[in-house]
This record gives sequence, structure tokens and C-alpha cells, in this order.
Amino acid sequence: MTDWSAAHPLLAERVQALQAMYARRYAPETLVVTSILRSDAQQIALFAQGRQSLAQVNVLRAAAGMTPIDVKANAHRVTNCDGVHNRSRHQGVLYEGRMVSRAVDLAPSWDADGPGTGKPIIDWNDRGRFNRIGPLAESVGLMWGGNWISFQDLPHVELPADVPNTAAVAA
Ligand SMILES: [Zn+2]
Repeated sequence: MTDWSAAHPLLAERVQALQAMYARRYAPETLVVTSILRSDAQQIALFAQGRQSLAQVNVLRAAAGMTPIDVKANAHRVTNCDGVHNRSRHQGVLYEGRMVSRAVDLAPSWDADGPGTGKPIIDWNDRGRFNRIGPLAESVGLMWGGNWISFQDLPHVELPADVPNTAAVAA
């Protein structure tokens, strides 16, 4: 199950609205959460993917508590944020005493052997399905990584910069 406590509460609310819209429009497909909060070590390991040797990448992943990837996965870069000088919106910000993410990654998913068979799959190369996320994300007040020029990030949605990390102060 999705751990929504790892997300900024406004992000959690908007992503769940987005998932509900997707499910209504594209049932029996759903939009599943694949990444929320990342540690610095996890972001550094993701930045290495597609930039360093498979052995080096998997050493970084193991140190960050992540499962190893294969040669095929290491042929692709998955982020432009190095996690140190250029931090990802997935790296935690302080919100009411806990660390939360300002970004969530999502993927269209469906049962490989037909609805209800319990074998969910994701096709990371299916641009058509990922492109559905953009307009739905914008309609609930989220920014979509598919609109970025330098690094198109189709699974990625995040809170706009003007949403503060602090809880709203009661008047
Ligand atoms: Zn992302």
C-alpha cells in the first residue's frame, strides 16, 4: 500500500484525485505510485544509473537499500538531479517535524492476463499511456515532468513551487 505519510499532504490529496480520475476514465487500468520519498543515498544511486558502470551503480544501490538493476536498465538515465548540488523534489523537505516528498512518480498499470487476474504490469516504454498523466495532473494543480525540455520525466508529478513546505497557519 502507498505510504502517504511520505508525501506532502497537499501532494497526497492531489495525487489521489488524479488516480481517481484516471481510474474513472481508463478502467480497468489504474495509476500506481512507484516512488515518493527518497533518501539522499537513493537519489545519488538513481543519478548514477545510465552514467556509471553497472557494478558501480549496484554498489550505490545496495548502500541505499535498493534492489540491483540489470544492464538493460542501466542503459537509461532516470533523473537529472544528482541529489547533492541539484536536489530532486523526491528528497525530503521538513513539514511539521517530519520529512516529506514534494514529488510522486506514477505508472499506468493493468493485469497482464486480463482484469482481476492479479498480475499487474507496467510498460515503461508506452509513451501513449504515460502521456495521459499530463492533462489530468494539471487539472488537479500538479506539475508534470513530461513538459520538461531538458529531461522529459513522464512518470513524474510534483507540487508547484508556490506551495509552501509549512502547514497553513490558522487565522
Ligand atoms: Zn519523479
